[in-house]
Amino acid sequence: MTRAQTASMYASEPSMSATYDSNVEQDSGKSGNGCLFNFCCFLLILLLLAGIAAAITMGVDGSKEQPGGRAAADRPAASSGANPVSGGKEGSVKSFNWCGSNKKKAVLSFDDGPSVTATPNVLADLKKTGLVATFFVSPAVDGPPDSAKCALIERILEDGHSLQSHSWDHQDFANLTDVQVVDNLSRNKEWVTKCAGSQVDKLDFNMFRPPYGSLDYARAQYISNELGYTIATWNLETEDFRGGLKEDIVERIKDKYAQLIPDKQGSVIILMHDKTYVEGGSIGAIPMIQRYFDRLGYEFITAGECYNKCDQYVDFCKMDGVWPGVFEQP
Ligand SMILES: [Zn+2]
Repeated sequence: MTRAQTASMYASEPSMSATYDSNVEQDSGKSGNGCLFNFCCFLLILLLLAGIAAAITMGVDGSKEQPGGRAAADRPAASSGANPVSGGKEGSVKSFNWCGSNKKKAVLSFDDGPSVTATPNVLADLKKTGLVATFFVSPAVDGPPDSAKCALIERILEDGHSLQSHSWDHQDFANLTDVQVVDNLSRNKEWVTKCAGSQVDKLDFNMFRPPYGSLDYARAQYISNELGYTIATWNLETEDFRGGLKEDIVERIKDKYAQLIPDKQGSVIILMHDKTYVEGGSIGAIPMIQRYFDRLGYEFITAGECYNKCDQYVDFCKMDGVWPGVFEQP
């Protein structure tokens, strides 16, 4: 092949230049004298430079087959920025702590149950008042749950209430690995599904309330986007765990409501605990809470109905200045 032919080939097939570079360099060393030689050298240098550029291009493309190679490491940020793993999910954690402003809705929520001694009292008062509630259950909070606890799951669903997850054994989720998070939530779901028995069709176990309100953005994102749970917190903590009778609990609710919703138009998610709903505790508070919010024109709904009222407008799902909030991106 003559140099002219070689030059012609480079001009028409630049992508093959990498193959020919070494041959061209060797050939040039054996060339004759004169203008033709100089002209050809000049041409070859140009072609050599073009060849180097083409070789670099091929190297980048070729890196797809060589993970971890230099070319892969050198890949421009623009291409590595399109991360298929996060797939645009970042920043889209499903989470809420109220149903929005200008929505006179109230959610009654009970945590840490079911409790064999207290949950029947809660169910009795809910039936008496005709209210719906949401139970965030953590069945192994006091050790492995027995058949009596299991039977309460079916009863809660039979009475038309919502059942959601508060973890299997009430651990601090900020201290768990992803694997432990999966294991903990799966265990709870399996137990609840089994205990739902004849009412299993009513089960829609798709919300998680973190024990102690303890969670961070990364875990919230994982639980929401990978495991499919909506993170459900609250904006009105009754602090019934501090003790007190029904009157004390209701006074706390009134005080907090006045501070939280001074215009009396916004929604409330009220946090209570099954266990305190016993004699000497908060038993009897439900009818009083109903009367108070009825007078204000509120409707009682489940946590799921609450979230459905705000989920199209993310900002409306979050009430500012209330702990623990909604675990937003820092
Ligand atoms: Zn709890």
